Amino acid sequence: MSELSEADAANELMRLAKQIAHHDRLYHAEDAPEITDQEYDALVRRNAELEAAFPDLVRADSPSRKVGHSAAASPLSKVTHSVRMMSLDNGFSGEEVGEWLARVRRFLSLGESEPIAVTAEDKIDGLSCSLRYEKGVLAQAATRGDGQVGEDVTSNVRHIPDIPEKLTGDIPEIFEVRGEVYMAKQDFTALNAAQHEAGGKLFANPRNAAAGSLRQKDANVTAARPLKFWAHGWGAASAVAGETQEEVVRAIESWGFPVSPHFVRLDGEGGLDALLAHYETIGTARPDMPYEIDGVVYKVDRLDWQARLGSVGKAPRWALAHKFPAERAETTLESIDIQVGRTGKLTPVGRLAPVLVGGVTVTNVTLHNRDEIARLGVRPGDRVVVQRAGDVIPQLVENLTPDAEREPYVFPDHCPECGSEAVAEEGEVDVRCTGGLICPAQRTERLKHFVSRGALDIDGLGEKTIDQFFALGWLESPADIFRLKGRRADILALDGWKEKSVDNLLASIEARREPDAARLLFGLGIIQSFEQNRWQFGEFETGAHAGLVGTATYQRGFGAIAENEAERVQQDRLARPGLPGKHAEPAPEIEIERFDQHDIADGKTG
Ligand SMILES: [Zn+2]
Repeated sequence: MSELSEADAANELMRLAKQIAHHDRLYHAEDAPEITDQEYDALVRRNAELEAAFPDLVRADSPSRKVGHSAAASPLSKVTHSVRMMSLDNGFSGEEVGEWLARVRRFLSLGESEPIAVTAEDKIDGLSCSLRYEKGVLAQAATRGDGQVGEDVTSNVRHIPDIPEKLTGDIPEIFEVRGEVYMAKQDFTALNAAQHEAGGKLFANPRNAAAGSLRQKDANVTAARPLKFWAHGWGAASAVAGETQEEVVRAIESWGFPVSPHFVRLDGEGGLDALLAHYETIGTARPDMPYEIDGVVYKVDRLDWQARLGSVGKAPRWALAHKFPAERAETTLESIDIQVGRTGKLTPVGRLAPVLVGGVTVTNVTLHNRDEIARLGVRPGDRVVVQRAGDVIPQLVENLTPDAEREPYVFPDHCPECGSEAVAEEGEVDVRCTGGLICPAQRTERLKHFVSRGALDIDGLGEKTIDQFFALGWLESPADIFRLKGRRADILALDGWKEKSVDNLLASIEARREPDAARLLFGLGIIQSFEQNRWQFGEFETGAHAGLVGTATYQRGFGAIAENEAERVQQDRLARPGLPGKHAEPAPEIEIERFDQHDIADGKTG
């Protein structure tokens, strides 16, 4: 910093002010950010460093003087906050949290041994909102805007079930509850799926979806969106129900508001270590949480201390957001492979230079279909942004080098497995191999599905074994599974098979010779799930036994009836390391922990 001349610093500050204003507008006004929060934070920090080194150069339009974005451009009417809505300072390491605690201690002139109790709660990634209650009745709701002036979203929030119209209990005359409007991960993926279906705009993440859903001129749009709310603080208040942060938050909860389920008070005895341990706990629980969080917020618990600490610029000294590492990352798209599924669908998979995203190494992303590749405009060799949205399957969200001179990617018009023509039906986005049963990929995928747990559930007949037996020509169709007992000696001659394992395999096949009708129909792809489709059985029940194999029903069962199920199986395979994605090929190793199969089964892949 010291080598930087004053002129250079002034230039850089000017550039940063413009850049940050640009990204603020995209983020707050258009709900369409171009850079990650981490990249944004880096710009803000650079600005703060320069301003600290050159205090005379602080600009009138400095980003450090602004919170959020001006509501001026919004079509919604404006609301002037009676008490400014602050934003939080960020810490990115334990060291920075320690520095914050030390600053608080110095500012309050506390002795080294005096405990500083703080509250800690997960920082949900939503849209800040202030809800004004007069005599316990909701009078006005406003977004943060620039912290001084926000947008009026009163009619919109009336459609959010978590926000009470009337409060119950001992309510002050005037009280502004502050918190976050957010969208749960599942609701976000479902919304995007519906938007996609309807040809509408897709949201980049749950936060943008929540913001875009709340900030609507037509409150009916908001009503149709699954928004939630939780409270974490307050603004103007004629009386405050307590002497600590915890007491007031619990009072707000008692009036009928949800608060973070992970809200705790740390009594200060453990010092910094206790805060960091709590951060670790929240970080571990994070992937399984139903909503997106981006950090843990600490607040000094005593309100008299908060008052003494006050704020500096746009942020209170008594609070800190301890952020989690990025869940987006940049890498290179090395190639695009095509996998062929059970119903012949060609699914493109992006192979990546390995990259850490939110603590997980990602080497593959699903590219969904031909249209998605065209939309992203990606080609092997491009630098791309990868995101783990909702902790499910990593997605490729942006091409950073669209202008680089590279040949456009051409989606194959022939099946890479059998060479048959691959086409998309009129109005369909999916390209399918027309090879049907001559396509080895489709046949092995069907076999694997047939023996899978939800279907016939044949122990000892795993995917590798299917691939091997298929390659040997022993499994032309599911019916051949029941003929394997005639190949006992052949199997025994293969590497890795012993008398006992062969006997076990043949026994588990025999045990399924007369399978449950539901399992059989599911295995043949006639129904998607026997749990959900009991009612469909009537017409199949009588004829549904092993003898069905090879009949017209069997053929039809392999057709398009079970589209969703085929998709699920394919996605399942994409998401689980170690499972072959197509015949005789290694699996795409999308390394995802705690992958939730239900997200996929419901078609909510974002
Ligand atoms: Zn094919």
